[in-house]
Amino acid sequence: MKMRFNTEDAFALRIENSIQENVSLTNYNTFRFDYLAEYFAIADSLDGLKALLAWAKHFKQAVTIIGGGSNLLISADITGLVIINRLTGISSREQAGNLVSLTVSSGENWHQVVKHVVEQGWYGIENLALIPGTAGAAPVQNIGAYGVEIKDVLARVQVINRKTGDVYWINGRDCGFAYRDSHFKGQWKDLLIITCVELSLKKRSELLLSYGGLSDRIEGKASLQSVFDTVCHVRSEKLPDPSLLANSGSFFKNPIVNSAQHHKLKEQFPNLVSFPFDENFKLAAGWLIEQAGWKGKHYQGVGVYDKQALVLVNHSETKAVPLLELEAQIKQSIWNRYGVKLEREPVQLPLETEEH
Ligand SMILES: Cc1cc2nc3c(=O)[nH]c(=O)nc-3n(C[C@H](O)[C@H](O)[C@H](O)COP(=O)(O)OP(=O)(O)OC[C@H]3O[C@@H](n4cnc5c(N)ncnc54)[C@H](O)[C@@H]3O)c2cc1C
Repeated sequence: MKMRFNTEDAFALRIENSIQENVSLTNYNTFRFDYLAEYFAIADSLDGLKALLAWAKHFKQAVTIIGGGSNLLISADITGLVIINRLTGISSREQAGNLVSLTVSSGENWHQVVKHVVEQGWYGIENLALIPGTAGAAPVQNIGAYGVEIKDVLARVQVINRKTGDVYWINGRDCGFAYRDSHFKGQWKDLLIITCVELSLKKRSELLLSYGGLSDRIEGKASLQSVFDTVCHVRSEKLPDPSLLANSGSFFKNPIVNSAQHHKLKEQFPNLVSFPFDENFKLAAGWLIEQAGWKGKHYQGVGVYDKQALVLVNHSETKAVPLLELEAQIKQSIWNRYGVKLEREPVQLPLETEEH
């Protein structure tokens, strides 16, 4: 049943005609699970996005926003309107002194943004190369790699309020950033859509090589370009390319334990891989899972990646049920062995709290 705005307005009709019904999301999530969007549209301009939100509000439909679908676990059909974000555009402004301000529309591909920035000779996000997905989703879980998180360079984000349609800026420091977390994953998840990010980059800076063995992998004097190239190289050795083997990157967050628990674990497991984290310790979840014997395991059509136990992969399934079962088994096994609770990193859709 096609819904109709109660108007003959040509713009409203054009928006309605751009909305499809019962569209498979297989090509819009890197796990490649096959669930349907009740209503589906692609937003390629801010005005288009506003109109889609107005449509959803008018018909009291929930809205789900998807970027590259690389941090999703879709586990059922999604009711309401699914919007694929394809807002594009990049501009830069040289600031006084050492700073460059880069404004990026939220549907831009994140890796292409990093590549562009490195080509310009600007510093700040070179360690975040080859992370899949869109620029607008990067603040949602505060993407991080090799000792850098997007919060370190994020000056502000432009958002649209789904309910009122208002567009405004929020400073990075007010976004509640934490390890793989932000208000966009919490209190703002049903309210705000990121339409633009503004990064504060440097024309000259030190390089950060102390994480993930980067300094050992770079021959000779490190440069912006060699860090970018090395990060790309190491990542493609370690992580499966979603276009070849369906996955959503790290499936679990690295658990954080207090120093008493860390001490106890270290006594029991002297090779435990961990890093100081504020007053606490971050444990390498991949190590915990590998030591518990899960690396390379197959379960029905899904499994644990054979080169990195933190990554769950989908070999052949169309539905998420076996993956959810495998997740539960791994969590239980890690709890039994170490007394440590694993937490999932990707966002499960449909969101439980979505309003209709
Ligand atoms: C091989 C691989 C490697 C990865 N490596 C890393 C890594 O090193 N570090 C890391 O942090 N992550 C990593 N990831 C996870 C993922 O790439 C990032 O989380 C990325 O930022 C997700 O972007 P996306 O556009 O695909 O988001 P999606 O998966 O489309 O969406 C993720 C969440 O953000 C919401 N969202 C999307 N766009 C917006 C928007 N514009 N406004 C508000 N909410 C929005 C969605 O509703 C959803 O809740 C990896 C994933 C893969 C597959």
